[in-house]
Amino acid sequence: MHLYLHIPFCRQACYYCDFHFSTNLSHKREVIEAISKEIELRADYLKEKELTTIYFGGGTPSLLNASEFDLIFETVARHFSLSSDIEITLEANPDDITMDNLRLWKKHGINRLSIGIQTFNEEHLRFINRIHSSFEAENSVKMAQDFGFKNLSLDLIYAIHGKEEGIPADKKHDIWLKDLEKIVSFDVPHISCYCMTIEEKTVFGKWQKTNKIPPVDDEFASEQFELLISKLGASGYEQYEISNFAKNGNYSRHNTSYWQGHEYLGVGPSAHSFNGVSRQYNVSQNRKYTDSIGLGKVPFEIEHLTPQEQANDYILTGLRTKWGIDLQLLQSKSGEITREFEETLKMYMHSEHLLLAENTITLTKKGKLFADGIASDLFF
Ligand code: SF4
Repeated sequence: MHLYLHIPFCRQACYYCDFHFSTNLSHKREVIEAISKEIELRADYLKEKELTTIYFGGGTPSLLNASEFDLIFETVARHFSLSSDIEITLEANPDDITMDNLRLWKKHGINRLSIGIQTFNEEHLRFINRIHSSFEAENSVKMAQDFGFKNLSLDLIYAIHGKEEGIPADKKHDIWLKDLEKIVSFDVPHISCYCMTIEEKTVFGKWQKTNKIPPVDDEFASEQFELLISKLGASGYEQYEISNFAKNGNYSRHNTSYWQGHEYLGVGPSAHSFNGVSRQYNVSQNRKYTDSIGLGKVPFEIEHLTPQEQANDYILTGLRTKWGIDLQLLQSKSGEITREFEETLKMYMHSEHLLLAENTITLTKKGKLFADGIASDLFF
């Protein structure tokens, strides 16, 4: 069983971010108490009572203080048992990585840190409004490693500027290449890399509307994605999901459970939960969330998934992974493999975007550039 906790606070808003968070920290304690209450209210959401993964995401969960962690872990321990090899991940911002915090996190059994580096380039950090400096980014990784956190994941973003305007063609990927060079030098077991996407409600979304910044250039982004695959591949990382790379099988067990369609409980404002046949979406507003939890009611919307939707979910997430889409499992979800699906599959196999082996469909190297488009063409 997998537990996700959404901690909806950040010190500063990054210009590209469309996650749910507030920069007003004055209600942090109140929200953490409500999250703890929600754990109690929803302890029976799934039958399984042994947790194999816990994931603190956000927002910035590394903002939690000792008593807030105490409260959450005590509540979890009252309602669940923890598997002996549990993976407990904390998303941490580089500026929160201090000796005191490292000690605190270790004390609570947190054994995996996902550090939001995004880029080591000072100018890019300022452009996207990250709170930390390039020095802090580097130093945070070294501190965590020296302290003994072996299971580290580092996040990077590529195509940060839609295009490096005014930079000669032969230098346009220099910053990205330096970021890649730097990240592999830490020899961490896991790296996640996401393409910059500009969402309407973000600062970048508004800037793009008023032509203050250009849209992300697809060709430029694809070139950076290919550089990423080749650099990390040459450095011993396996691309086990489109945006995720691991050394020696150190996959994120929590995220892999999502991609493989396992059930999970998500608590906190904007968190989602999945029990195999329906999804629940908690309200994305801290005040509404705490008010409702105060009345003993979890504020969520529910979506019952039809067999077709369950199959499409599996296509979308499964195709992005190295495990691909198992046709037998797909059939058990959808009820049938349609003629249309088979035709589309054939077309993409012919164009060398998809491979079919042992009844499992996976993306080819070429297909990885178009994963989401191919998935939606395969939808039932
Ligand atoms: S990217 Fe992370 S730190 Fe930045 S605003 Fe979003 S949740 Fe907060």
